[in-house]
Amino acid sequence: SPKFKLRNVSVSYGNDRAIKDISLDIRRNEVISFIGPSGCGKTTFLRCLNRMNDSIEICRVTGKLMLDGEDIYQSKKDVVELRARVGMVFQKPNPFPKSIYDNVAYGPKIHGLANRKSELDEIVENSLRKAGLWDEVKDRLDAVATGMSGGQQQRLCIARAIAVSPEVILMDEPCSALDPIATAKVEELISEMSESYTIVIVTHSMQQAARVSHRTAYFHMGHLVEVNETNKVFTAP
Ligand code: ADP
Ligand code: ADP
Repeated sequence: SPKFKLRNVSVSYGNDRAIKDISLDIRRNEVISFIGPSGCGKTTFLRCLNRMNDSIEICRVTGKLMLDGEDIYQSKKDVVELRARVGMVFQKPNPFPKSIYDNVAYGPKIHGLANRKSELDEIVENSLRKAGLWDEVKDRLDAVATGMSGGQQQRLCIARAIAVSPEVILMDEPCSALDPIATAKVEELISEMSESYTIVIVTHSMQQAARVSHRTAYFHMGHLVEVNETNKVFTAP
C-alpha cells in the first residue's frame, strides 16, 4: 500500500485555488520530486502533507489525504504527532540558536522518546550519523549551531527531523541556499536516506530531480500535469 494516497486534493487561499484536484499515490521509500515554475503551487502542496498550512487562516484543503490509510485532515490525533511522522526540512537552514546537541535532542525530548540522558545521547549520535555529520561535530556538540557552515546547518536540520523517527521527510528546495559542494553532500544523503524514509522534495531544478529521485512530478498552475519514473523522463528515446 502507498505511504500517501491523495484523492481530489485542492488547496485554496480565500477564493484562489493554488492546488487543483490532485490525485496521486506516494510510494513507500521512494524519493519523489515535484518541479515546476515559481508560483505553480509546489510549496503549498508540500505543506498540506503535514498540515503545515493550518497556520494560514485563509488556507483551505479539500479532498482526501491518506497517510497509511488514515485521512490526516479527519484524524483526531494531534498535528504535533503528525509532524513527527512527517518531518520537514526548509529551503533556508533554520537551526535553533542553541547548541548542536540541543537542536537534535529537542524533538526526542518533547515526544518523550528517551527516558535517560544516555538514551538521548544515543538518539543524538545516531541522528547525526545518519545525516553524515557525526565525525564533523562529535567534538563540539556544545557549539552553537548557527556558527556552522550553511551546508552543515542544513544537514543538522535533517538530523533534527530524523531524531523523532519520522516515516516521511518533506524537503522544500533543500539545496537552493547551498553552494555546489554542500548541495552534493545533501543530495548524496537524500539518496542514502531513501532506504529508511519516504522523501518528498520540491525543487525548481530538473537536474536535481534527475539526480536524487525515483519519480518526478510536474506542476503547472496548480495542476499535476505528469508523474513519471525519473529514468524515463530523463533518458532520450
Ligand atoms: P517560494 O517561491 O520559494 O515558495 P515565495 O516567495 O513564493 O517562495 O513565498 C514565500 C512565503 O510567502 C511563503 O510562506 C508563502 O506561503 C508566502 N506567500 C506566497 N505568495 C503569497 C501571497 N500571494 N500572499 C501571501 N503570502 C504569500
Ligand atoms: P511555488 O512553491 O511553486 O512557488 P506556492 O505554493 O508558493 O508556489 O504558491 C502557489 C500560489 O499560491 C501562488 O499564486 C501564491 O501567490 C499563492 N500563495 C502561496 N502562499 C500564499 C498565502 N500564504 N496566501 C495567499 N496566497 C498564497
